Amino acid sequence: MRSLYGRSADHMKVRVLGCSGGIGAPAATTSFLIDDDILIDAGTGLGALSLAELARIDHVFLTHSHLDHINSLPLMADSVGMMRDKPIVVYALAETMETLRDHVMNGRVWPDFTVIPTPENPFLVLQEMAAGETRQIGTRAITSIAVNHTIPAVGYVIDSGSGSLAFSGDTTVMDAFWDELNALEELRYLFVETTFTDENIELAKISKHLCPSMLAGELAKLDVDAEIYISHLMPGSEQEIMAEIAKHIPERTPRALTRDQVFEL
Ligand SMILES: [Zn+2]
Ligand SMILES: [Zn+2]
Repeated sequence: MRSLYGRSADHMKVRVLGCSGGIGAPAATTSFLIDDDILIDAGTGLGALSLAELARIDHVFLTHSHLDHINSLPLMADSVGMMRDKPIVVYALAETMETLRDHVMNGRVWPDFTVIPTPENPFLVLQEMAAGETRQIGTRAITSIAVNHTIPAVGYVIDSGSGSLAFSGDTTVMDAFWDELNALEELRYLFVETTFTDENIELAKISKHLCPSMLAGELAKLDVDAEIYISHLMPGSEQEIMAEIAKHIPERTPRALTRDQVFEL
C-alpha cells in the first residue's frame, strides 16, 4: 500500500491536515500526514482525507492522549478496518496507550479495535514507544522526545534521510527538546506550539502550553537555523498571537502553520 513517495530515497512529503488548538472551520486539530502512510497525531484534521487515503495509513505516532490529538483514530479504525489486510500500528507512550484502552476504546465510548474483529488480526495494534526511541519506516526515521505538558507527552523529529522536521506537540517550557534539536545535523523545519496570547500567560502555565513571551524564551535555546512554524493557535486568537510573536522574535520570523500546507524534504 506504499506510494512512490514512500519508496523514493531522500524525499519525504509532510502535509498539514490540521494544526489548530481547536475547531471552527477552517480550523481543525492536529494531524500531519507523512508521504501517504504515516500520521503524526489523529485530530479532527484527519477528516479531510478520503476513505481511500485513510485506508493507506499504516502507522500512527501519537504525541499524547488529549482528545484534540486522538479523536479521529478510533473513527478511522472503524471506517477502514475492513478494507485493510493488516492492522494500523499506533506508536505511543505507555501512559497514552493506557488512556486509549481504559477511557476511549473500552467498549463504552468506542469498541476495542485492538481485539476486533479478532485478537490475532485486529484493526489496530498499540505499540509502546518510550521517549527517546526511534522507529525506522522505509527511508523515514521517527524519533520521540519527551516534552513538558499536563500529561505524559512527546514531540517528534522526522528525518527523511536528507533533512529533518521537528514537531513540539503540546508543551510548555522545557530543555530536552531543544538540546536534541541543537544536536541535529540538518533541521529544516520546526513546528512549535503557541496556544495562548501573552494576556493569558497564567492559563498557559496552568495548562502547560506556551504564549508568545514564553516561546521567545524557548526559541532562545535553539542554536540552529530552521524555518519556524507555529501550531496549536487558539481559534479566534491566531492573528493576535502571531502579532505578539513577531514583536518578541523579530529575528526569527516564525509563520503560522496552516491547514493543507505541504513541506518537502
Ligand atoms: Zn494537550
Ligand atoms: Zn492539543
